[in-house]
Amino acid sequence: MSDSFKAILVSRDEEKKQSVALTDLTLADLMEGDVVVRVSHSTVNYKDGLAVTGRAPVVRRWPMIPGIDFCGIVESSEHPGYKAGDAVILNGWGCGETHFGGYTEKARVKGDWLVKLPAGISAAEAMAVGTAGYTAMLCVMALERHGVTPDKGPVIVTGAAGGVGSVAVAILSKLGYEVAASTGRVEEADYLKGLGATEIIARDELSGPAKPLNKERFAGGVDAVGSHTLANVLSMTKYGGTVAACGLAGGMDLPTSVAPFILRGVTLAGIDSVMCPRPLREEAWARIATDLDKGKLAAMTHEIALADVPTVASDILEGKVRGRIVVKVA
Ligand code: NDP
Repeated sequence: MSDSFKAILVSRDEEKKQSVALTDLTLADLMEGDVVVRVSHSTVNYKDGLAVTGRAPVVRRWPMIPGIDFCGIVESSEHPGYKAGDAVILNGWGCGETHFGGYTEKARVKGDWLVKLPAGISAAEAMAVGTAGYTAMLCVMALERHGVTPDKGPVIVTGAAGGVGSVAVAILSKLGYEVAASTGRVEEADYLKGLGATEIIARDELSGPAKPLNKERFAGGVDAVGSHTLANVLSMTKYGGTVAACGLAGGMDLPTSVAPFILRGVTLAGIDSVMCPRPLREEAWARIATDLDKGKLAAMTHEIALADVPTVASDILEGKVRGRIVVKVA
């Protein structure tokens, strides 16, 4: 059919067994929205790994086109803010969960969910950043709002060789922070130093049960791991410091005590990218265009085709993906 296009569809059979396939769809198959976008790039985030493999209940409508973010060009619009030809980014708002997401050559979404591609950044670069990198920027902005400036001392990034971690290390280093990178992949020490890390901390130093308080080492942190790792980071945060918590790669629990909060005035700042209000979203994307070194972004990124998504979705959950993946859709 002439208006058909390719998309990745995850489906469930009567026994709720999940399957994934590269399939042909038409515009009539898409969900409601007031803007149609010709998607050029998407990406594979940790959450996409969970959705495509079915390892966690990310998908809440069947069948689903996964992919929590995409970049592309508006093909048609009934939204007053967008016209054909506009370059746009979409991330979050339930795309790839309750609304068809980014692993498709065409998407129909609400214009209110879109952000215009900022000047100085290409569509491929925006997806190299993707939800993971934009979340890293939200974490850095939270540290800044809480007064964690480079002169306060080193900051720690956990899950450093992953997507959120790699971008956080690069941004913090460009902003002048001394960055300690915690990783389970010591073989990635040179990679992390190349992104700007000044110290490498082995993952297992932080993965055991935390003391209520430990030696004060870090002015702040960006945590993509959760569980004991976050508890240890909190116990090592200096008086008045802030830790931005955005992830659960190591677990959903948080086995800590109130000691860092009530005895050291530590702040735990929660970061959500999905429903993040528009002004903060636009600020984060604008900051990415200026505060992320393009060379470092290129060094942490590799490109795959739409058909490769199912394989890479499994890899990311096994911690085998370094940095960021761009899915070249068109
Ligand atoms: P990645 O898989 O790219 O990175 C996660 C990293 O965490 C891995 O690379 C690894 O880093 C580390 N890690 C993995 N497993 C474990 C483990 N068992 N114990 C300790 N460390 C581990 O994922 P993303 O960067 O895309 O996402 C990171 C986290 O942030 C995820 O939990 C994701 O769901 C969350 N997230 C949340 C968002 C929000 O809105 N709050 C938005 C985006 C992401 P290393 O090899 O260096 O140790």
